[in-house]
Amino acid sequence: MALVNNRLTAEQYGENFSDIHPPFETRDAALVEANRCLFCYDAPCIKSCPTSIDIPKFIRQITTDNPKGSAYTILSANILGGGCSKVCPVEKLCEGSCVYNLMDEPPIPIAKLQRFSTEKAIAEKWPLFQRKPSTTKRVAVVGAGPAGLSCAHVLSREGIDVTVFEKESKGGGLMTYGIAAYKVTPQFCEDEVNFITSLGGIAINYNQELGKTVSLADLQQTYDAVYLGVGVGLARQLDIPGENLNGVEDAIRFIYDIRTKGYPAIPVGDKVAVIGLGMTAIDAATQAKRLGASEVTIVYRRTQAEMPCTETELNIAKLDGCRIMWLAAPQEIIGENGQVTQLICSLMQLGEPDASGRWSPVETGETMTLDVDMVIKAAGQMPFEALVSENHLENRKGKISINDACATNLRGVFAGGDCVNGGKEVVDAVQAGKDGAKAILKFLK
Ligand code: SF4
Repeated sequence: MALVNNRLTAEQYGENFSDIHPPFETRDAALVEANRCLFCYDAPCIKSCPTSIDIPKFIRQITTDNPKGSAYTILSANILGGGCSKVCPVEKLCEGSCVYNLMDEPPIPIAKLQRFSTEKAIAEKWPLFQRKPSTTKRVAVVGAGPAGLSCAHVLSREGIDVTVFEKESKGGGLMTYGIAAYKVTPQFCEDEVNFITSLGGIAINYNQELGKTVSLADLQQTYDAVYLGVGVGLARQLDIPGENLNGVEDAIRFIYDIRTKGYPAIPVGDKVAVIGLGMTAIDAATQAKRLGASEVTIVYRRTQAEMPCTETELNIAKLDGCRIMWLAAPQEIIGENGQVTQLICSLMQLGEPDASGRWSPVETGETMTLDVDMVIKAAGQMPFEALVSENHLENRKGKISINDACATNLRGVFAGGDCVNGGKEVVDAVQAGKDGAKAILKFLK
């Protein structure tokens, strides 16, 4: 069976892609939760936030009816604090370390409270930040994702004129193009980017791609410093027979299309297999189900103990009716008339620990065949190795090498975020952008 789009009614799409974590319905509901906070000394929740947001402080500001102060506390540490409140895996970050967990009580809903303050700030366009007078220094930032925007905002506040070069037609990077639509909408991402640039001193040049329309050498000549926040984006291939059949998609492209073309336009199979169990795999599987697939099976070569996604994410997939096939690795995709019909999986068992410390999967010699009409590859993303090498940047398999001052081997060129670490959370990229800006300011002085 071929892939089919427009499987559902407008109401069904609306329902399936509505906000998974709705905001507080009333101000009083937010106050009740904020007042549960113990305002811990040496608060563990702050230490678990990669951007070190002063969480007890912003919660206390909510309790004293000071939403502007609360939003400032959040956004001065994390300018994408609004988006992060929607997409951060808080169960393994701030909320996961809230002391209430030790008392077997629900943790403070930090993300929901963060959203309470930041959504207001963005919707009402509060001018929370001012720029210092211009220093006449100019910095080019490549990539308008979380790392690039965070770096640009810190620099602009210090009076640096920043020009951002973005290959897409909108800013936000992964937030705008690579996350399930029921977590954060493209409209919110656009509003957040506008809020960031409303500071002034940040110009974003869209549809400008490094290595195509923009060259690093030109940027080095024109600007006082360059920050690379180009992310990762190439889907890892499975390298198995049948990978080129119709109906085999990569998860990045699938999610990108959902976010840019509208739900009814996206073709989806009836029986879908998703390869991998990271956050992107979960987002692809749940959205395939929400687009109308009747069966979605996530194929993962290890066990639950080694899975890269959080248990909360796994539960979203299970609640959506996705099936998990543990200890199975794709071996071959079979097709008929050029269209996927089956996925053959090798059944695995755990062997010795690998370099990452996780048990490595070993083939048992047995196989299992799934009848499918769509296979979504979500086995990880790869850095832009060719781009990095062509620009003579020192790298480790495409991941840009930087020193403790975020500097690459090229003088005046700095880098951070996913293009350096290979892909972490949005909030890690925001912190990387802050670190990069700090290093650039020191360099310019
Ligand atoms: Fe409040 Fe929990 Fe943080 Fe303590 S750990 S300050 S209770 S949010």
